[in-house]
Amino acid sequence: MEGTTKPHLVLIPWQGSISHIIPMTDIGILLASHGAAVTIITTPANAPVVQSRVDDRATPPRGGVGITVTAIPFPGAEAGLPEGRERLDLLRSPADVPRFFAANKRFGEAVARHCLGGASMPPCRPTCIVAGMCHSWALGLARELGVPCYIFHGFGAFALLCIEHLFKHRPHEAVASPDEPFDVPVLPSFECRVSRRQLPPHFSPSTSMGGGPLQEIRDFDVAVDGVVVNTFEELEHGSAALLAAATGRKVLAVGPVSLSHSPSLDPETMSEDARRCMAWLDTKASRSVAYVSFGSAGCMPPAQVMQLGMALVSCPWPVLWVVKGADSLPDDVNKWLRENTDDADGVADTKCLVVRGWAPQVAILAHPAVGGFLTHCGWGSTLEAVAAGMPMATWPLFAEQFINERLIVDVLGVGVSVGVTKPTENILSASKTDGSKAEAEAEVGMEQVMKALERLMDQGAEAEERRRKAQELKAKAKGALEEGGSSYVNLENLIQSFV
Ligand code: UDP
Repeated sequence: MEGTTKPHLVLIPWQGSISHIIPMTDIGILLASHGAAVTIITTPANAPVVQSRVDDRATPPRGGVGITVTAIPFPGAEAGLPEGRERLDLLRSPADVPRFFAANKRFGEAVARHCLGGASMPPCRPTCIVAGMCHSWALGLARELGVPCYIFHGFGAFALLCIEHLFKHRPHEAVASPDEPFDVPVLPSFECRVSRRQLPPHFSPSTSMGGGPLQEIRDFDVAVDGVVVNTFEELEHGSAALLAAATGRKVLAVGPVSLSHSPSLDPETMSEDARRCMAWLDTKASRSVAYVSFGSAGCMPPAQVMQLGMALVSCPWPVLWVVKGADSLPDDVNKWLRENTDDADGVADTKCLVVRGWAPQVAILAHPAVGGFLTHCGWGSTLEAVAAGMPMATWPLFAEQFINERLIVDVLGVGVSVGVTKPTENILSASKTDGSKAEAEAEVGMEQVMKALERLMDQGAEAEERRRKAQELKAKAKGALEEGGSSYVNLENLIQSFV
């Protein structure tokens, strides 16, 4: 790209979740490595997450073009939020969710002032804006600047295709009960059977965020110039192309974006939790460990934590278990964790290591000791597992995760379903007035967890076939981002379209 004007892409990750900030930062790193100038705009509390990933990137950008991380204050206080609540996982009550969305609108006004410039400020003019799914205000800004606007949902192409089908054909409205499975026939050779209860929040607007933001997200999605997806064309059986055909928009598969990084294993910079995980894994035999994690904020009711925990401590495999929200678990559950697992706070010496903080997931999945991943099917985790060639046991919690489960188990053949039928309540799906009534009962018993782990970690033909398929996908994932690969070409084409 020497001698030509370098396009300037402004990326504005949805700050609601760290799982949106991580892949959008990685997309910025990839775009910069293809020679674009990149600015990532976020809020002050989230800027260090972005900056540390940028500093940690595996390959320096070609052509000496860098990435600027810009923090713009999040007007939470003006919307009635306590100081520093700049992500949804930092909110304490469902009543704060509408305030968070109101603050996000004001944040959009501040971002617009920054991009357009003012009396005392030079403008930060982009060639293109790539905005997180809830930043519907970005479209007006892009139009004012006269530049294209792309959306990043954080979902895979198959899930986006299913969502498009649900909006257009509304099969969920034809079933009598919320638990009756119906087919979302988006891929010719596969069934995708889900129930109404398992659909993303777009189709159950009586949530703490309300129907307003959900409708805005849909309107934004329909009006943008294109969709950037963290996937690769070889993975989802043509879903990206089918989505482009169904929507008439450009759909750019640019992943797996986690491969923009080689996980940092420098003991100087690793967190204490990360050091514990990696040192523990180093003592374990090849493919012997089950890794268990439910994403950046996935929590379960205490009774469910206990059933899961009892399975994990009594199964024959060493287990690395990431527990989020442990501080809000009742004392008896915390006491049980301390006494039955290798919890940092505890004294036990067992084969189940519990991490209450942030686990270095990509490094864990790449460790030779790990043989299977019990996952909540968040798209980031799913694609990281695919990129690592790791078979999965699937335990979806909410959002589009039940659809991802169908992809992992039925379409890709790299997963075993735990058999969860009902979503787990979270701050977004909680009712507006009372978020404290999380289901007290555990839907999944200890035996059911054990059965799924047995199938996942087994050495028999069925499990070996899943491992073979997972390794095949790993090779394709790597190839997609290598020079000439599908995601590489899509990134290059995106940048070239602005030159
Ligand atoms: N993650 C991590 N350590 C943790 C928890 C999560 O590195 O302790 C990362 C994980 O690697 C992934 C993201 O957080 O990149 C979670 O994203 P995903 O879409 O799977 O789930 P969500 O957090 O949106 O439920």
